Amino acid sequence: MHYATSVADLVGNTPLVRLNHVVAGIRATVLAKVEYFNPGGSSKDRIAARILDAAERAGQLRPGGTIVEPTSGNTGVGLALVARQRGYRCIFVVPDKFLGEKIAVLRALGAEVVVTETNVPPEDPRSYYSVSDRLVQEIPGAFKPNQFANPNGPRSHFETTGPEIWRDTDGRVTHFVAGIGTGGTISGAGRYLKEASGGAVTVVGADPDGSLYSGGPVHGYKVEGVGEDFFPDTFDPSVVDRYERVTDAESFAMTRRLAREEALLVGGSSGMAVVAALRTARDLGPDDVVVVLLPDHGRAYLSKIFDDGWMQANGFDLAPEAGAPERSTL
Ligand code: PMP
Repeated sequence: MHYATSVADLVGNTPLVRLNHVVAGIRATVLAKVEYFNPGGSSKDRIAARILDAAERAGQLRPGGTIVEPTSGNTGVGLALVARQRGYRCIFVVPDKFLGEKIAVLRALGAEVVVTETNVPPEDPRSYYSVSDRLVQEIPGAFKPNQFANPNGPRSHFETTGPEIWRDTDGRVTHFVAGIGTGGTISGAGRYLKEASGGAVTVVGADPDGSLYSGGPVHGYKVEGVGEDFFPDTFDPSVVDRYERVTDAESFAMTRRLAREEALLVGGSSGMAVVAALRTARDLGPDDVVVVLLPDHGRAYLSKIFDDGWMQANGFDLAPEAGAPERSTL
């Protein structure tokens, strides 16, 4: 018989699939690593088990303990999935701007969700940082994974995501493109690929227009899960060879094209990463292999990116090609 002993054992070993339609005019092979094949639907499943393993070994998390993390999305799902298997209670602290499908998923997985006010400064006792810190202090046996500072995030991508890409391309990958949230993915997988290739793999950071990583200026943007206005401990900028800045309009247009043209229903940060991958690939030859990581599923964005009314209300063009890089200027 062939079966997994728990859902948590199904994390990782996600497939690579070649992009065939959005790559018109490009000679290099562009392969997407589709992280929605993880059981929680995103790349964040990878970090959850390792963060909890390390906390158990360090005695920070004991049987019957409680996990408290400020998160609105994918990290919470990954943690909830592993925590249920191991009998931990989960409390996620979420700003009220994120109400919707993502919170419903956390609750469905048995997590408790504490909703906090979005429009208060971090030091305000009602902010999501303050509330999560207070809960950690008040609840006996509480553990805060702290995904923006936990070294097990980048480590899990060094130990799994990077080796999978190297193995599945037979070591022929030449470029790796990924967005940067905590920086765990690009720092861990990027470092592995550089080491395995003797420095031959070029690492490209896809960054929203408005994020600090690619040099600012910092301003608001709509794509979720990527970009920051500070440098977290989990991000190692020395791994990134160069950045591609991508606007919301470009990201969302490409996200919609991926669904229609490639049948890949993925989130906005995936569209952003593909725009960066195509700009990277436009000058490359037929022997080059560009791997672009698609972090999550599009189902969490049905009422946003895939909703025409939402797109129009936010000033985005509906034509699938709009905002996508012109072929000539890719
Ligand atoms: N895209 C989405 C949708 C995410 O949730 C995240 C994680 N915040 C990322 C991209 C970036 O991954 P990382 O934190 O490893 O940089």
